[in-house]
Amino acid sequence: MSKRVLVAALHHESNSFNPIIADEKDFSIAKGEEIFQRLRPNDSLSGIVYTLLGMGWDVVPLLSARAVPNGEVSSRLYTELKTDLLSRAKDAQDQAPVDALVLSLHGSMRVENLGEAEGDMLKALRELFPQIPILCSLDMHATMTKDMHQLANGYVGYKCAPHIDCSETGAHAARMAIEALEHGAQPYSAWCSIPMVIAGEKSETTTEPMVTLIAELRKTEKKHGIMAASFLMGFPWANHSGHGVSAYVVSDGNPELAQAEAKRLADLFWSYRHEFVFHTETHGNIKAIDRCFEEVNAGNTPVYLSDSGDNPTAGSSGDVTGLLVDLMNHPKTTDCPIPPLFGGIYDPPAVQHCMNHIGERISLEFGALFDTKNNQRLSCDVEVLATVKKWGDFEADMALIRVQNVDVVLVSKHIGYIDPEMFRVLGANPAERDVVVCKLGYLTDPQRKVAQKSIMALSSGSTNEALETLPYEEINRPIYPLDQEMEFKAQVVQVQ
Ligand SMILES: [Zn+2]
Repeated sequence: MSKRVLVAALHHESNSFNPIIADEKDFSIAKGEEIFQRLRPNDSLSGIVYTLLGMGWDVVPLLSARAVPNGEVSSRLYTELKTDLLSRAKDAQDQAPVDALVLSLHGSMRVENLGEAEGDMLKALRELFPQIPILCSLDMHATMTKDMHQLANGYVGYKCAPHIDCSETGAHAARMAIEALEHGAQPYSAWCSIPMVIAGEKSETTTEPMVTLIAELRKTEKKHGIMAASFLMGFPWANHSGHGVSAYVVSDGNPELAQAEAKRLADLFWSYRHEFVFHTETHGNIKAIDRCFEEVNAGNTPVYLSDSGDNPTAGSSGDVTGLLVDLMNHPKTTDCPIPPLFGGIYDPPAVQHCMNHIGERISLEFGALFDTKNNQRLSCDVEVLATVKKWGDFEADMALIRVQNVDVVLVSKHIGYIDPEMFRVLGANPAERDVVVCKLGYLTDPQRKVAQKSIMALSSGSTNEALETLPYEEINRPIYPLDQEMEFKAQVVQVQ
């Protein structure tokens, strides 16, 4: 019999060390039927919608809100989104009975003055729909909480980082709803929290120990009675007490099985704790720059250098100048026949200033507009080489400036340096450069295709990879690797 299912998406990874408060201009928001027109490939909401439509069911889209990771979300925007989503859910309920909710969530979204967003949103939805199944897909970097655990029937997280399995994961969440509604499955979830913080750069799923751990999840999901098994890695650049990796298992009505598997997976994960290491060559700024020039001398160009402490794709501000200053002042940079290319600095007023001075030499202040801690605003004579308006999905204005023999990209939006095309549209082909700096951690696939060699600088910023040095005030201790000698035995998190 045809069923009626409500769907929605809420995606933001909130870095509380980044002082930016994310608002409307940072989000892509779609409401109601508009969501169907804007479904994207490799997206968990798309996986949910197409799987449910494939059943011939009535799929009611409520709201989709997503952004590039950034600082915490504005409380005003979150309240607006929540009010809108709830009123659409109520209207849908008034029109006809609702059989289930399937949600595409990130799981590490935080709101200023509130804390976790997903638990708060689920509380309101659960009040509206006390009985029906709620199933959710999550980002792999989700932070499980007691509210989230209690208020939904089942979760499944991505199994790939970089996240290339978003649609599949959405489809998996939808299939759990189908199992529940068509075949009487009763999703029962068990959760074990593992006291660890891990940077994404140490846990790509193409490297060990994640290859082994993810293979174990897939094996677990083949076991009779298991509906989903996930490792939710948490998000380290946030200051709260709920940090941790989670082993999360959904069984079909079998609490003992779910609990035993969650415990087994958590202990297994912990046993590999010493094996999470950087897989890219990694150094402090100066050594990293030295190594880049050595690779240039050896002919391995372009060398890509990641400004990993200020990586907007992990929620950093994107305006930190530390590595740029070190590169500008490095003696080898001055003599470079081909200026290094630096992507980039988020500074809307500086971009606008450049727009009026193409081809001119001007004095320009830029950088440290948002993250003013340990970060230096620069005042330099620069040459404006090129500008571009409304580039890409985010319609960013961009400028390319030359400063002390470094070509620097300035951007008007908080975007990630994921695509070499953003350099090419400014007339700077990274394939023809010797050194290309990107504000990234591990390189994205499109950048990796250009790079002949990749080095990561442990630079400063709100995605500082040296987690042991972060100014955590509220984190629960002990936690690994901050507490090296601690012991751990997995236990199921009990909620009343
Ligand atoms: Zn993620």
